[in-house]
Amino acid sequence: MKQQINIRLGLVSLIAIVTTVISITLIYYNLFQQQVRNDLKETTLLLAETKVFQNPGLSGKKTNGTSEDFKSGKFRITWINEEGTVLFDNDAEISKMTNHLDRPEIQAALKYGYGESTRHSDTMNMDTFYYALLLDNHTILRLSTQARTIGSILVTALPVIILIVIIILLGCILIGHLLTRQLMKPLEEMAGNLDGSSGSPVYKELEPFMTTIRSQHEDILAAVKSRQDFTANISHELKTPISAISGYAELIETRMVDAETSIYIAGQIRHNAARLLSLVTDIIQLSELDHWELPRSFETTDLLAAARECVANLKPMAAQKSINLSCSGIPAAINAEPRLIRELIDNLVQNGIRYNKEKGSVDVSVSILDSHPILSVKDTGIGIPADQQDRVFERFYRVDKSRSRETGGTGLGLAIVKHIAQIHSAEISLHSVPGKGTQIRVRF
Ligand code: ADP
Repeated sequence: MKQQINIRLGLVSLIAIVTTVISITLIYYNLFQQQVRNDLKETTLLLAETKVFQNPGLSGKKTNGTSEDFKSGKFRITWINEEGTVLFDNDAEISKMTNHLDRPEIQAALKYGYGESTRHSDTMNMDTFYYALLLDNHTILRLSTQARTIGSILVTALPVIILIVIIILLGCILIGHLLTRQLMKPLEEMAGNLDGSSGSPVYKELEPFMTTIRSQHEDILAAVKSRQDFTANISHELKTPISAISGYAELIETRMVDAETSIYIAGQIRHNAARLLSLVTDIIQLSELDHWELPRSFETTDLLAAARECVANLKPMAAQKSINLSCSGIPAAINAEPRLIRELIDNLVQNGIRYNKEKGSVDVSVSILDSHPILSVKDTGIGIPADQQDRVFERFYRVDKSRSRETGGTGLGLAIVKHIAQIHSAEISLHSVPGKGTQIRVRF
């Protein structure tokens, strides 16, 4: 970034310098040309007023004038008669001079009384300016002078221009370097202070950027922490049934138990193995749901049909606790992954049975409200205390640990429900009164 700022600053300065030099030179050269023309005209008029060129005796090359005088910026004076013959020239031998009638300034002077022209000499890199004036005696007085072309002025000034450009460029690089350092400092400080412990950013334009970065940073930290917690919880949860199985197996191994106890132990091993299996199944299910990027095979699914299927499967479980399990409602089509929807309903209904009272009831119903399909699972169970209603959707959170374990709960059921609802953009609402019952509604 620093390098880019330096390069751009240098480039902008270079363009600015070159444009300034060119435009100043052009303006200056234009003024200079105008000045030369004016001087030429003024001097010609002045010279004409002296009446020197009325005198027919003045002819031939003036002896004290030399080419060197002319070149060093002085005027060349030429006097020409109406036929174009040169009568006098202060710089050349008139006998060697050709007829001047074809010169544009002479033509113009004969026609309009005066004439101007400029001729360029590539070999000398000079412009020659002419001013011709028609005198009263019908002769023409012409003055000319030479001035350097714009190209030659630029070439002469080039070393100075290059020197200035180099100095300014070096200055720009230095300023650019200092500026970027100053500009970057708060950003670097900000990068080292993502947890937001010290103040707001120096640039208020960066406030939204920083807020986003900080909240993303917090999200990442929270995700890492929840993952670490989850892993620690998994290890802990798995340890309990594995230790139990291993302990019971040891008892059998040491032949310390009679036949009747062995049967009890076998039952305990089976119970713990089943617990282990449901734990592992739920963990696998959750980790699969965690992968949002997995392609989902969504299809039109009837919520009522899915609910009926789950209720039918869980009837035996409900019957064991003498719980009346029912399903009612109207068909409601949703775009969903059927396997996940069945998993969601299963978890909710199982909870309704597990945390219920003897001879209680669980009602599953499907309705449509404001064109949103709604699944409701309502039980007459023990309910959830108000202060824990938000937490039951956390992984491994249980209101009553022992009851959950006894009934085969893993503490992951509602976390899975929440995840599946998120995948289907559905909203969950929980209404529960301790001692009376719980109703969980999923709005698709
Ligand atoms: P678990 O496998 O322990 O049931 P869940 O994630 O399904 O785990 O539920 C978390 C906790 O929420 C449960 O341990 C239980 O205390 C409470 N809970 C869930 N559903 C109900 C319900 N229908 N009635 C009363 N308490 C419930």
